[in-house]
Amino acid sequence: MMERPRILIIDDDPNLRKTLADIIRIKGYETLTAEDGEKGLAVLLENSVNLILLDLGLPGIPGLEVLDRIKADSPLTGVIVLTGQATIDSAVEATNRGAFSYLVKPYEIDQLINHIRRAIEKQLAEEEIIRHHIELKRMNVELKALNEVSLVISRTIDLEKLLPQILQTLAGTGIFPFEIKGAIFLAEGGGFRLASFLSLSETMLKPCSDISMGECICGSCASTGEVAFLRNFIEDGRHPRCDPEMAPYGRLIIPLKAIDKVVGILSLYVQPDVEVSDQVLRLLSSLANQIGIAISNARLYEETKTFSLHDPLTGLANRRFLQIQMEKNFEAAKRYQGKLSVIMLDIDHFKRYNDTQGHLGGDRLLVSLAKVLERELRTADSVFRYGGEEFLCLLPETDLIMACEVAERLRMAVQAETDVTISLGVASYTDDMPDKETLIKKADEALYRAKENGRNRVEQ
Ligand code: GH3
Ligand code: MG
Ligand code: MG
Repeated sequence: MMERPRILIIDDDPNLRKTLADIIRIKGYETLTAEDGEKGLAVLLENSVNLILLDLGLPGIPGLEVLDRIKADSPLTGVIVLTGQATIDSAVEATNRGAFSYLVKPYEIDQLINHIRRAIEKQLAEEEIIRHHIELKRMNVELKALNEVSLVISRTIDLEKLLPQILQTLAGTGIFPFEIKGAIFLAEGGGFRLASFLSLSETMLKPCSDISMGECICGSCASTGEVAFLRNFIEDGRHPRCDPEMAPYGRLIIPLKAIDKVVGILSLYVQPDVEVSDQVLRLLSSLANQIGIAISNARLYEETKTFSLHDPLTGLANRRFLQIQMEKNFEAAKRYQGKLSVIMLDIDHFKRYNDTQGHLGGDRLLVSLAKVLERELRTADSVFRYGGEEFLCLLPETDLIMACEVAERLRMAVQAETDVTISLGVASYTDDMPDKETLIKKADEALYRAKENGRNRVEQ
């Protein structure tokens, strides 16, 4: 049920005070009374009041001054001025200074009640507007926080960067009552592993670095999928793994979910014994869903990267693909006593090039070099990005002499068409070679000799 509006009567006439209070109470309002301005202001300090009936002809502080002070202390409280004929000018002035209305004695009771009803309606409406305003402001701050976190999430696909950025951003929004301390755990092999932390020491987190499903407070949040809030871990028995020497703190533990799967746990530190509103918990849960999805995407991206067979910069096949291709070609050469050669090549003084052209310039060169190599090789041959600025060409059905010719052709094309030169080492399969690694090692040794002998040359 709604509370009854409360009216304070400030009048020095004890009979009038009592009569007014009785009438007003009968009409369904709560009443308080005071005999002068000073006492009235004191009552106002202690109680929340919707409306004041203020006699202007008061002993002590003059009525208009009382009005000014009421308006200064609680601007939303309505005031109806009661006045005799003698002070009617002051009553008009009172409405200029913020009184809702005035009534000249003697007035009809119905008239008074009518004024009271309208004044209280106005006062309640104003309070409602202010409440909405505050609520809007709070929602705005929360939306901003939500937006900031979403932005970080959408910009970062790299898991290693994503997690610390999430913690930083959450802490930086300032709308949550937690300290700038927290950690993120990621689901791994049925349990959870500590993956990122902010303003916490590794020793502090050591007991928690690995958590099994259902174990301790974090593990049980992960298995139920529910947010947990510990006001004070010392009084709360749900965190057995905690170091008892630590200063008291509160904890918010939020499972990070992607669709329905818990992919991680967000653990935030709160000052001990502070309250966390349901509103904040709801907001954090909705953020947690976004974070969960971002983690799941980042992991997917990592997996794709791990399983990918191509180098994203040059588009060439990478070392992983090389292993597969080498295996096939080496086995075939061995079985059919076939021919097989490899050329290992490395850019000369590439460090210097990077230093003068910048790393991006270096990257561009790697791209154009890759194009030259691909174009110069026959379709049966393939070129792999072996390492940073090292490439490996695989030449099936090619003997050492032919491979050296190819190498020399590559060397000349690079010299003519790019701003760098390359050194090349050539090696061919021989039937005494135990494995593909030996063949690559021989090419690498030849490359080393090419560097030793002055660079921009081919050795075998
Ligand atoms: P050397 O003639 O002896 O090979 O001299 P170098 O300067 O090429 O020597 P080194 O092989 O030690 O240096 C390789 C340099 O290549 C260092 C590294 O910064 C650069 N590098 C490796 N990978 C990349 C890449 O992807 N992009 C760019 N821009 N530079 C790379
Ligand atoms: Mg080099
Ligand atoms: Mg090198």
